[in-house]
Amino acid sequence: MGCMRMNFEFSELQEDIRHGVREICARYDVEYWRKCDEKNEYPEEFVNAMIEAGWLSALIPEEYGGAGLGLSEAAIILEEVNRSGGAGTACHAQMYTMGAVLRHGSEEQKQKYLPQIANGTLRLQSMGVTEPDAGSDTTKIKTFAEKKGDHYIINGQKIFTSRYQHSDMILLLARTTPLEKVDKKTKGISLFLIDTRDIGDAIVANPIDTMVHHETNMLFINDLKVPASALVGEEGNGLYCILDGLNAERILASAQAVGDGKWFVEQAVRYSKERVVFDRPIGQNQGVQFPISKAYANLMAAETMMHKAAAKFDQGLPCGAEANMAKYLCSEAAWEAGEAAMTTFGGYAVAKEYHIERKWKESRLARNAPISNNLVLSYVGQHVLGMPRSF
Ligand SMILES: Cc1cc2nc3c(=O)[nH]c(=O)nc-3n(C[C@H](O)[C@H](O)[C@H](O)COP(=O)(O)OP(=O)(O)OC[C@H]3O[C@@H](n4cnc5c(N)ncnc54)[C@H](O)[C@@H]3O)c2cc1C
Repeated sequence: MGCMRMNFEFSELQEDIRHGVREICARYDVEYWRKCDEKNEYPEEFVNAMIEAGWLSALIPEEYGGAGLGLSEAAIILEEVNRSGGAGTACHAQMYTMGAVLRHGSEEQKQKYLPQIANGTLRLQSMGVTEPDAGSDTTKIKTFAEKKGDHYIINGQKIFTSRYQHSDMILLLARTTPLEKVDKKTKGISLFLIDTRDIGDAIVANPIDTMVHHETNMLFINDLKVPASALVGEEGNGLYCILDGLNAERILASAQAVGDGKWFVEQAVRYSKERVVFDRPIGQNQGVQFPISKAYANLMAAETMMHKAAAKFDQGLPCGAEANMAKYLCSEAAWEAGEAAMTTFGGYAVAKEYHIERKWKESRLARNAPISNNLVLSYVGQHVLGMPRSF
């Protein structure tokens, strides 16, 4: 049996990436993010700066004009965004949605879209999977794409489709064979890459007002006509085409959670040294120290799992177990760190100018989305530990 090679040092390139992203983030401080949150405004300038610097095309191979980096580097990029007090959710999809096109798209699709995504003239920030009735059971989606000659007509509804208004294209999952006509429920679903710039009202997007500023929508799709060339991969195999991308999404969501967790710990440590009550800094009390230390320890363990998942992804190894476990551990550790910061800041934790409440709400979301932690645990129980299927 071969031994596992482990290297806990970041490479020089990875350190350079970290510093490069930090420099951009320093221009968009917590006040910038607070204002975006308060006004429900998309962080357009920040996203533009990230695109211009090439960070959002990190995963696009060099032959298509991207940086040709791995998921390990992409994770560092998003971790730094959240660690600075920002929110990578504003733009993270630009990184992983194109993965399905890269791995399963035709050469024509890759040539047509990837260089434009890489140079920032085209935005692919939106992915429509979730539906109101199907929820976590994606095989029950009802959005249907009917083939008619050289095109498809798509009808249906999507919910929680994020950044639709800030994207030129959407990666959309639809049934092409009804559930009752397939031998396996994961079959008969197809993936489409759709240019939404010129479709009129074939897709109507209604924004959903949410706890955190997230630019998410309910989509109504009415007789949307798309060319057959919009199909990504084979018809009927769309769920499989999107699956690798979902592992990437889970790993990147983990990276953002690690960034949130580190931000909380840094804030809590700083404040615990500065705030003096009962004639001593509150951080001198172990009742204040221990929750922060515990959260930090859990966060460091979670970060290790996240990098293991990313390294396996980059090596082309199966990483479903690690990606799911990373998503669980990182989101829980970030939440624990957020709770520690909430307690450390006392009453000031809820005052918006301290930014804790905003980040606390943002980091809570990671336990529910992009996949809820219950579903992650059921993946571990069923696929990793081999326990009986519960659904
Ligand atoms: C802000 C935000 C942005 C999002 N952006 C996108 C996006 O861009 N594109 C997209 O496609 N989707 C997006 N989503 C959707 C997200 O992926 C789903 O909300 C999430 O997967 C959960 O689905 P649901 O809300 O329908 O929950 P449900 O499936 O209704 O589940 C509700 C609860 O029940 C639990 N549950 C259900 N069945 C079981 C079971 N068998 N065992 C144990 N527990 C169970 C779940 O874990 C969950 O806690 C977004 C969601 C949010 C909140």
